[in-house]
Amino acid sequence: MPFAESRTPTAEPLLGDDGPAWLHVHLGLYGRWSFSGPRATDVAGAGLRGGGNAAAVPEPGATVRLRLEAEDLAADLTGPARCEALDGQGVRAVLARLGPDPVRNEPGDRERFVTTIRSRRAAVGQLILDQSIAAGPGNIYRADCLFRTGISPLTPGSEVSPERLGALWDDLAATMADDVDSGVIRTVPPDLRPEPVPEGDEEAGRFAVYHRTGRPCLRCGTTIVEKDLVGRRLFWCPGCQR
Ligand SMILES: [Zn+2]
Repeated sequence: MPFAESRTPTAEPLLGDDGPAWLHVHLGLYGRWSFSGPRATDVAGAGLRGGGNAAAVPEPGATVRLRLEAEDLAADLTGPARCEALDGQGVRAVLARLGPDPVRNEPGDRERFVTTIRSRRAAVGQLILDQSIAAGPGNIYRADCLFRTGISPLTPGSEVSPERLGALWDDLAATMADDVDSGVIRTVPPDLRPEPVPEGDEEAGRFAVYHRTGRPCLRCGTTIVEKDLVGRRLFWCPGCQR
């Protein structure tokens, strides 16, 4: 099976037939990790938040799909879209169908993202959620990174300039990397974050357009709108996204 070039060069030596087993987890919309045991409060970052602080690790609940356990700490996975053990060939197959990952942002990834979107006529707001084009971005990053770079999500990918798509990749990479560090998704640009956050519009402290339908745009005051795009809610500002 061909190995997608530029993907996971650091993992390649471990993917042989005699290599270790790999755990593949896709959280999807409902999957989450939770932590228990005396050391649970030490766990944070990398998108994970420390959970309870029980004196001992409790028995796993009925909905737990997988438990990873160490001394004084357990990580329980519930509700994942995927949870499977893979060998090296299985890992290659998964990687071959994924696009570049903005959090890894390896050499060539930015160009591959720009070139692929430029070759497609679908709306750029639809293409971003295609995991074969970019692996990782979900609905929040789709909405807010397009806002941050001023791109209308309805523009066909082929009509967005390479410069703007490059800026979009850079913004996805920077925003997602920041959130991995903090463990919290917070995509509103710091200079647009209202102080204090308006009563009844608390999400303005975290998101720019995501989930803010009917609220005033933090940049231009135009009312934020939404529409269904391929089964997912898409949010944007028709005033300052072109
Ligand atoms: Zn606006």
